[in-house]
Amino acid sequence: MAEAPIQPWDRPAPEREGRPCAWSLLPEDLAELGCPGSALETFKRLHRPWTWKDGAPDLGPAIRRWLEGVADLRLPALVDGQPSSDGATKLVLELADGRRIEAVHMPRPVRNPRVTYCLSSQVGCAMGCTFCATGSMGILRNLQAGEILGQVLTLMAGLGPARGHELTLVFMGMGEPLHNLDHLHRAIRLLCHPAGLGLGKGRITVSTSGLVSGIERLSKLEPRPLLALSLNATTDAARNRTMPVNRVWNLARLRRALDDWGLKRGEKFCFEYVLLAGENDTEADADRLAAWLGDLRRAHNLNLIPMNEHAASPFRQPGEARVQQFAEWLKVRGCFVTVRRSRGRDVQGACGQLVKGS
Ligand code: SAH
Ligand code: SF4
Repeated sequence: MAEAPIQPWDRPAPEREGRPCAWSLLPEDLAELGCPGSALETFKRLHRPWTWKDGAPDLGPAIRRWLEGVADLRLPALVDGQPSSDGATKLVLELADGRRIEAVHMPRPVRNPRVTYCLSSQVGCAMGCTFCATGSMGILRNLQAGEILGQVLTLMAGLGPARGHELTLVFMGMGEPLHNLDHLHRAIRLLCHPAGLGLGKGRITVSTSGLVSGIERLSKLEPRPLLALSLNATTDAARNRTMPVNRVWNLARLRRALDDWGLKRGEKFCFEYVLLAGENDTEADADRLAAWLGDLRRAHNLNLIPMNEHAASPFRQPGEARVQQFAEWLKVRGCFVTVRRSRGRDVQGACGQLVKGS
């Protein structure tokens, strides 16, 4: 079979001059490239920021010289951080080619330290959802696995937490993660590697707009993360309007993909529903939404996200009374509903407000 052509957004950053990003390499890749010491030990030193010295992995001069010859050790650089009044911080990270992406650092107020990172998977997004600021940028390029991992390591080194077991990751920043599945999944393998951060797969959530081909592929991969689905409309006509991906895989097809996912014990889906005033917030919508969820409505989270308004979209947030009413309509229909007050809102770091760092 002919290989798929390389898309313009999937070319590696030219600045890497053909060398792979060091943070994309698994221990077996380091060995294959001729690592002069223990490949596993080198991987550990790269991927465990709590062992770093002065903000960089403590590799020793020989391994460092070798690695710099075969790979690019640059991590995304923190170029801006805006704390919000709710404790979240919106961060702008600059990649090796100067492109910028955003991530959000969200400490959770519990006794044991826990931090959630909202991460990007692409620079921009190709999916064109009409309520989303990132969608209005179009797609500039995919992130490489090492750049996805680099976000995590840069955030850990800069803002904590110190250890991997205190981390939860959600791919709800810039981009459609399943449109960059090869790099995303390699990043998940790196994140879950026991010699690295050792994250449990249940601590990683991948949010998709409904790219069914990607859902089907991801369902068969190991480690398999949790899946979140952005629904945002309850009829094909409405969803075709606001989420063009629906013209390829409609609501019925999407629902089938969830049945085929093959939920395992302890796994849950998360459903996201952005409330757009006058567009998708009626009782008839609540009715159709509950019907579409069917037997998934009780055990799985349905997150209502009042639209975060921004200049690139005409949609507005419904009033508070309507948000509560919509939640109530769903509850009486047996759904397990929460209203997500987006964190980082006062600094434009909330869902769908992530645009190119400026
Ligand atoms: N591309 C993926 C993940 C990134 S978007 C996806 O669409 O799921 C993360 C979440 O932000 C999605 O649930 C999306 O519906 C939501 N979102 C997008 N724009 C928004 C906005 N303006 N206000 C509130 N949520 C928004
Ligand atoms: Fe892309 Fe998600 Fe925004 Fe849609 S909502 S444009 S898929 S980032």
